[in-house]
Amino acid sequence: MFTTKQIRMTETQYPSLEALLAAVRNCRACEQHLPLGPRPVLRAEATARLLIVGQAPGTRVHATGIPWNDPSGERLRAWMGIDKDLFYDASHIAIIPMGYCYPGRGKSGDLPPRRECADLWLNRLLAELPRIELTLLVGQYAQRHFLGSRCKPSLTETVRNWQAYAPQYLPLPHPSPRNTLWLKRNPWFEQQLLPVLRARIRALYACEEIEA
Ligand code: SF4
Repeated sequence: MFTTKQIRMTETQYPSLEALLAAVRNCRACEQHLPLGPRPVLRAEATARLLIVGQAPGTRVHATGIPWNDPSGERLRAWMGIDKDLFYDASHIAIIPMGYCYPGRGKSGDLPPRRECADLWLNRLLAELPRIELTLLVGQYAQRHFLGSRCKPSLTETVRNWQAYAPQYLPLPHPSPRNTLWLKRNPWFEQQLLPVLRARIRALYACEEIEA
């Protein structure tokens, strides 16, 4: 349930994406649950055509304020076949995780993303990104939120069934080093899906070069 202050946040109108992002970066809605305090990490510009939706920042991303600034990010960029310059160019690629602040640690790794971020902000952010053509759903939390009942019983089956969600969405496993065994057990992912991902990204930015 939202507090009165949070309801006010959801009702406030912002004149631009920049103003909305500034409000998100000042968000303190679940401050009491965050062991390192609020530091929302996300970036977007209205011209972006690709959206990456991950889980939540880890401690390294929290410390630097730079999304995917860790081994998971290195692997994700390798999967996408792009360098850091393009990856971090918010005019091309928006990066909005399911949780914007580091959620803390549980018994088996980082806690799930805080739900408040999506409840308070996600739809408003998406409404300011009218040019998104492809959304990468990285990990189970993004897949559950965006695909809902269209998700398969397991992440592996959802990713294997990627054609059912095209062209709007492409589900991916999390690129964390913890998932190296999953990649070994599912060689079809690198052999069949990654070439599709790279081709989609090449097509997006080839179009932009033509328009320019
Ligand atoms: S985790 Fe999300 S809802 Fe909580 S303070 Fe950070 S941005 Fe706000």
